[in-house]
Amino acid sequence: MGTRRIIVVGAGYAGLLAALRARRVLHAQVTLVSDSPRFVDRIRLHEHLARGADVATPVAQWLGGSGVEHVVGRAIAVDGSSLVLHDGSTLAFDHLLLALGSEGHPAPAGTRPVSLDSRADVARALASGGRIAVVGAGTTGIEVAAELAELEGASVTLVASVLAGELSPRARAHVARYFARQGAELRLGTRVRSAAPDHLETDRGPVPFDLCLWTAGFRAARPLAGLDVELDPMGRILVGPDLRLPGRPDVQVIGDAGVPTGMATVPRPGCKSAMPLAAHAIDVLAGASGPFRWRDAMTCLSLGRRDGVIQALRADGAFGPTLTGRPAAWVKERVARYVLWSLAAERDDRFAYRWLRGPAGRPAALEAASAGVR
Ligand SMILES: Cc1cc2nc3c(=O)[nH]c(=O)nc-3n(C[C@H](O)[C@H](O)[C@H](O)COP(=O)(O)OP(=O)(O)OC[C@H]3O[C@@H](n4cnc5c(N)ncnc54)[C@H](O)[C@@H]3O)c2cc1C
Repeated sequence: MGTRRIIVVGAGYAGLLAALRARRVLHAQVTLVSDSPRFVDRIRLHEHLARGADVATPVAQWLGGSGVEHVVGRAIAVDGSSLVLHDGSTLAFDHLLLALGSEGHPAPAGTRPVSLDSRADVARALASGGRIAVVGAGTTGIEVAAELAELEGASVTLVASVLAGELSPRARAHVARYFARQGAELRLGTRVRSAAPDHLETDRGPVPFDLCLWTAGFRAARPLAGLDVELDPMGRILVGPDLRLPGRPDVQVIGDAGVPTGMATVPRPGCKSAMPLAAHAIDVLAGASGPFRWRDAMTCLSLGRRDGVIQALRADGAFGPTLTGRPAAWVKERVARYVLWSLAAERDDRFAYRWLRGPAGRPAALEAASAGVR
């Protein structure tokens, strides 16, 4: 194939996998551009903020020996066949992969997003009363609140409209029991009206806090200037089944930043779809035919260090069996390890990342995409 210079923007799961696979399969000149010298293992961020788990490692460590070049800089625009960085420098490409990722909805003033800095926020909160409010009870909010609820001196309140809307009633009941055992308070059916520096105003009364972590909502990263893009309601860039941007066959969007249209199953954002999207994008460049196919087989949730929920999903999207407790925590840990292992294996040419493919099926309407991370 004729692609010589490939640029990948964003060194999260999707960007790293795409860069390593492109180098291995296409033997092209590959440059990975990222706004940080570190790769953040985001699916363990809750372990970091509660216990200081080491989740930020040098990108160079993941690229070591692969031949992929790493440039640290923030990409701001695409100008023809050049990528423009924040310092005004440009990088020419034959093919561009955008793996810009996502963030939570902006945390309102007075609250904090879940990030690498959250560890310091938690330490400060524990020193000044220990009342931690977590807003949003999707999978991220639950994992964050569950991890914090196990900390000595923490008093956690989870504030949300519903608990784990994407889990079966049995799984939800298990999550509720877990929080009850930890002495955490669930304020469900609750809408946040506003946030002050020390409390939330909700339609069910105030929730005082020493720290409020905001996990409600999902927003894809802002697209680069100079590209004509259409976005879905979550801010994801719409691309074709080959993950190419309409009108720009030399640009693909992968990971949380994009969403292919015309699929039988619309991928939900999450590491579990970000990596398949990245692998498929490179397979397309290597000549693979057929649209992106993906099947959401399960939702994996850790509840602290010794508990969890694995919610199997059937091919038609219905709930399958539910695994809970220590066996679920064990499975979740293996899934998280598989993610990093497969990046290293791709780099070392030991293994090509694989995923469960769904049926080609009838194209689904985009509106079928369900909101929420994972
Ligand atoms: C606490 C927590 C737990 C989670 N657990 C799970 C889980 O169990 N399973 C699951 O499937 N998902 C989980 N997720 C979601 C998962 O982390 C994301 O879906 C995943 O990180 C998306 O991968 P990505 O490569 O698309 O983007 P990201 O990991 O967000 O990486 C994008 C990278 O691009 C960089 N970047 C962005 N814009 C630019 C630019 N203009 N120039 C240069 N660099 C740029 C960013 O700094 C970032 O490093 C969890 C998330 C959180 C917060």
